[in-house]
Amino acid sequence: MTDPDTTFGVYVHWPFCAQKCPYCDFNSHVRHKGWDEERFLAAYKSEIDWVADRIGSRTATSVFFGGGTPSLMQASTVAGILEHIAKRWGIARDAEITLEANPGSVEAARFRGFRGAGVNRVSIGVQSLRDEELRKLGRIHSVAEAKSALGVARETFDRFSFDLIYARPGQTAEAWRTELAEALDLAGDHLSLYQLTIEPDTPYAALHAAGKLIIPDDYDAGSLYEITEELTASRGLAAYEVSNYARPSQESRHNLLYWRYGEYAGIGPGAHGRIVADGKREATIAERNPEAWLARVETDGNGFTDLAALGREEQADELLLMGLRLAEGVDLTRLAALGGVLPSTAAIAELNELGLLRSGAPASERHSGDWRRNEFDEILACAGPGLRPETTHRPTDRIRVTPRGRLVLNAVVAKLSNSFQQVDRIDNLKAAG
Ligand code: SF4
Repeated sequence: MTDPDTTFGVYVHWPFCAQKCPYCDFNSHVRHKGWDEERFLAAYKSEIDWVADRIGSRTATSVFFGGGTPSLMQASTVAGILEHIAKRWGIARDAEITLEANPGSVEAARFRGFRGAGVNRVSIGVQSLRDEELRKLGRIHSVAEAKSALGVARETFDRFSFDLIYARPGQTAEAWRTELAEALDLAGDHLSLYQLTIEPDTPYAALHAAGKLIIPDDYDAGSLYEITEELTASRGLAAYEVSNYARPSQESRHNLLYWRYGEYAGIGPGAHGRIVADGKREATIAERNPEAWLARVETDGNGFTDLAALGREEQADELLLMGLRLAEGVDLTRLAALGGVLPSTAAIAELNELGLLRSGAPASERHSGDWRRNEFDEILACAGPGLRPETTHRPTDRIRVTPRGRLVLNAVVAKLSNSFQQVDRIDNLKAAG
C-alpha cells in the first residue's frame, strides 16, 4: 500500500491499437501504415526531460504503460523509456512496473522481452471468456488466445491481472455468475471487473441511441455488481476500489496512487498528470492526436495543451472524487489540509441515513479487541434533525461509500462537494462554542 505523500508515479501513454473497439473512448488510434517508433521514443524522452526539469528530483515508485495497446510497443522502446525515467528520476528497487497488454498471440510472444526491459506486472485486456461476446465487443482475440496469454503472463511476471467487461447486452445474472467463476479460476491476485458503459461519440453510443444495443438497466446492473462482490469476496479478492479486486497487498500500487491523489507525471499523447512544482499541484493534459503530440514535443519539448495550477478547492474535489472510489475512503484531515474545506456534517449524516456512506475510523485504526462504536457515528445516530453538531471531525475520521453508495458514486461526491464548508469557518464556530 502506498503513502500518497511519498510516492511518485509515471504514466506513459501508448496511443496505438490494432483495431478500434466500438465501445472505447480511450485515446487510441489505428495506423495501418504503422508509426516511427524511434521518433516516438525520442519524444517520450524529451517530455520526461521537460517534466523532470520542472519538478526536480524524485524516485518513481511505480511506472504504468497504458493505452492504447502498449503491448504493441517494441520491448526496446519500453526499455528505453524505463532507462530514461531511471536516469532522470530514479526508479525504486521494489517499484511496480505495469504494462497493459492485449492477449493476441503476437503480443503474448513479446512478454519475455517486456520482462527483460524491466516490466514486472501485466494487466491483460481479456474482456470476456465467451468467443461470441468477444466478437460483439469488437475484440480481435479469441478466448483460447486469452487463456494462453494468461499462462505466459503467469510464468513470466511477478504479478498479473486481467480485465473483464460485464453488464453486457442481454447478459443474465446466471451467465455472469458462471463466467466470473471461470475467470476466478484463472485469476492471480488481482482482477479488474468493469461494467459496460455507453461512452459518447462511440459506435456503441450510436447503436444505443438507435435502440439497437440495449444494456442492463441500473437495477439489473446493480444485481450483477452484487454477484461480482459476492463471488470475488468468496475467493479472497477484496473490492478495494469500485471495479478492482485484489488479495491483501496485491492492489495496483500505481492506481492506488491516483485514487489516493498522489503525484504522477503523465507522459505521451493524451496523458494527464498531477505534478508538484514549486510547492503547487499542477494538472497537465497532453495533445491527444499522436502525430500532433509528436510535433509539439519536437518543437516545444512537451506535448501539453494544458498546464494549470490547481486551486485548493479543486484539489479537495479531486481528492474526494478519487478517494471515494476506494474502500478505505477519504481521510477528512488530509482533505482539510489540502483543500481547506470539509463536507458539512448534515450532508454526511444524510448520506449515512440513506445507507450510502459510512464515517469514522476504519477497523484497522481501532484497537484490536476493542470494537467500540465510533463516537462520530454515535453522535449522528443520536442527534435528531436540526440538532446535529456543526462538526465532530476527529483526526482519524474517514468517510467511505458503502457498496450501495458505489452504485451512485457521482451523486454522493456531488452532494458532499456542494456542502463544502471552509475549515476556518468551522474552527470559528467551534471556538465560539
Ligand atoms: S484495445 Fe483497448 S484501448 Fe484499444 S480500442 Fe480496444 S478498448 Fe480501446
